[in-house]
This record gives sequence, structure tokens and C-alpha cells, in this order.
Amino acid sequence: MNRREFARHLSLMLGTWAAGRRHAPTQGPASLRVNGTRLNEQLTRLGNIGRNPVTGGINRLAFSDADREARSYVTQLMRAARLDVSVDAVANLIGRRGGSDPTLPALMVGSHIDSVPEGGNCDGPVGSLAAIEVAHTLAERGVTTRHPLEVVIFSNEENGKTGSRAMSGEVEAQELDIVTASGKSIRDGIAFLGGEPGNLRRARRERGSVAAFFELHVEQGGILEREQVPIGVVEGIVGIKRWDVTVEGFANHAGTTPMDARRDALLAAARFVDTVHRTTRDIAGRQVATVGRIRAEPGAPNVIPGRAVLSLEIRDLDMTKIDQVFERLRGEADAIGAATGTTFAFQPFYTSHAALTDEPLRRGIESAASVLDLRTMRLPSGAGHDAQSVARFAPIGMIFVPSVGGISHSPQEFTRPDDVVNGTNVLLTSLLESDRPTDRG
Ligand SMILES: [Zn+2]
Repeated sequence: MNRREFARHLSLMLGTWAAGRRHAPTQGPASLRVNGTRLNEQLTRLGNIGRNPVTGGINRLAFSDADREARSYVTQLMRAARLDVSVDAVANLIGRRGGSDPTLPALMVGSHIDSVPEGGNCDGPVGSLAAIEVAHTLAERGVTTRHPLEVVIFSNEENGKTGSRAMSGEVEAQELDIVTASGKSIRDGIAFLGGEPGNLRRARRERGSVAAFFELHVEQGGILEREQVPIGVVEGIVGIKRWDVTVEGFANHAGTTPMDARRDALLAAARFVDTVHRTTRDIAGRQVATVGRIRAEPGAPNVIPGRAVLSLEIRDLDMTKIDQVFERLRGEADAIGAATGTTFAFQPFYTSHAALTDEPLRRGIESAASVLDLRTMRLPSGAGHDAQSVARFAPIGMIFVPSVGGISHSPQEFTRPDDVVNGTNVLLTSLLESDRPTDRG
């Protein structure tokens, strides 16, 4: 055939090949899909461990018997996914599979399976079992990643993220004495799950030892459902600052002190609560601020409150934004004090730093979702997650799937099986994207 015929022949061949690829999604790692039926069945079975038969609430408190039973079930699933299972010093449950290039740092995926009292079976389990399903799919399809793969079920997420914080070296010695809702101290709980509380240093991961970490999690809010978007690309986990606010007035007789001669600390506090709400709404951005606790002293019906003590909490992805909102609120408090004859004092007592997700990983998640024909939107996480601690030593990527009604930490917590499967396919595809040689190496 002449050159012209050859060119035509070649273009026909390529067209057939391209069409074949479009219509045969089982070809090549980019078109791998997880086994959604298996995953949802496993989620249901895990949900039977620690379930209150009356309310349907999940009581899989960290370090409880139910926690240990759930971990033994998850260990079986890890083994079925052909992962080598171990428990580290802080009792993180780790499933590992070697990569084709042993010199590369690991790709890590995971979440937690402990719950709050009377919680649901999605917060934690969805991301945990999805991570195992990703490993299972790779194993049964004979796909070996270049990087080693680590699936991590972090210990004690709900009472202070002990497992992930030990990896980043943040757990303080005195923290181990804290008694958790299980009735055990963190120290005894770690030992109960097979860890070595005296040796937490050994759980630590150095910067550079993990190429990327992915966590799939349910949103626990209602934005994705409201916007009808199946995949959320998390921009980061918001930072938190908290203050004790003390308002000093003057305690006096509630019957004999005229209305224009009062220095009522509770009245000033009430105005402050309203100001916190209004001012925070008025400032452009997605910051949130809350007064969640208030106490009046001396606290009698016939005494004008001389002191009020309240809490103030502000959250945002940007720590400097938190400080700006605080400065505005402090200015408003001074004005309220001047108008009511009271003074405001602010004592900071808690800071949790914001953890941003990695921009290349966000884009990887977006391109994975687009391969799967799933719409995405970017959003911050208002709740804390293990990924936040991992961010201290590795780039993190976080995927959200919708929570029905935005409900979480409740027996009503629910994410639809289809959304779980979509999120897990995005997790798998993003992970493979990060494994490609052109990426971080
Ligand atoms: Zn969680």
C-alpha cells in the first residue's frame, strides 16, 4: 500500500483502538473500579459491632471491647485484601503491601473505626473500609503500585486523635493518663489494643517517609447534599481557637437597684453573644464563631449578676482570619463594656492549627472524579480528622462524600451506598494518579 493508504489504515486502526478503550473500561489501571457490593456488605457487618439494639446507635468507643472486636474483623478484611497486618506502638492497625520500587516512600490511606457514644457507622468506617477495598481491588486485579501501600486504621480518633498524633510526634506524656469514655486511660487502652504505650516514639513518622496520604470521609455537614454534588474536595481542616471570656460587673440587690444604676455582667454577656453571631456573619468569608457555654455568678434570682463567664470559639482555614475576627469581637466587647459599666477579659485556652490539603493532590482528586464523570466542589472541613495530624509529615488529600441531612455523631448518620462506592472509586483513581512516575516520584 502507498503512503496515503497506509496513513488511512493507521488512522482507522487507531480509531478502532480508541473506541475499544472507551467501551472496555476494564483495560488499564485508570479504569479499575472497586467492588461496591462487597464494600457495602462489609460496612453493614462492621455496623453490627457495638450497635445499641434499641436506638441503632453505634457504641464503638475507642479502647472498648467493641473497638477490639471491630479491629479483629477489620484485620480479617485486611488479610483477605492480601495486606501484611501489624499493630504499631500507639495501636494503629496497619496493613502493608510492597511496591515495585522499594526505594520509594509509602502511599498511605486510612481513617478510624472508633465512634462517639451513640454515634453512626459512617464517620470513620466509610474511609477505613474504602481504603481496604482499594487494596483488595489492586490485589485481585494483579496491580502492583510503584510505591508501597499502607492502609492505616488510626487508634482513638474520637478522644483526641491519639493514633495519628503519635505518628506526628504530638502526643504529650501526661495525655496518656486521660481517662476516656471507655473507662480506660489512654495508656491502658493502647496496651489493651496491643500497642506499647511506653514506646510511642516508635510510632513516629518522619517527614518524607510518606509520599502522600489520602482520607475518604463522610462530610458530616449538609453542603454536598444541598448542592447535589457527590464528591467534595477538602481544602483543609479548619483551625480552632477558644477563649474563656470573663465579664465583670457588680453584684447588687435585684429589688433595690434602679434599672439605670446597674452593672449587670449577664446583660453585657447576652449582648456579646448576639454580637458574636452578627459580626461573624457580617465579615466576608466562611469563618464560624460560637458561644457554647455561659455561667452567671452568683447565680441567684434576686441578685444582679456581678460576673459572667462564657466561652468563645472561632474556626477558619486561615489562622490569621481567626485573629482578625477575634480583634473585631474584642472591639465590640469593649463597646458593650463601656455601655453597661462592665469589663471584658479574654483568656485563650485552646488552639488547633488549620491543616491545608496539598494542591496537587486536590487537582488529582478532581481529575479522578472527572474520569469517573462525578461532579466535585471544594470545601473546608469544619470537623477535625486524622489527616490533620498526618499533614505535619506528609502531603494530604481528603475526599468527602455526602451525609444525608448533614447529620453525624448520631444514630441517624447515613451516607448512601452509591455515594460510598463513588468516593471509593475516586480514592482508588487518585491513589493511582499519585503513583505515576511523573508525579512526586
Ligand atoms: Zn471521623
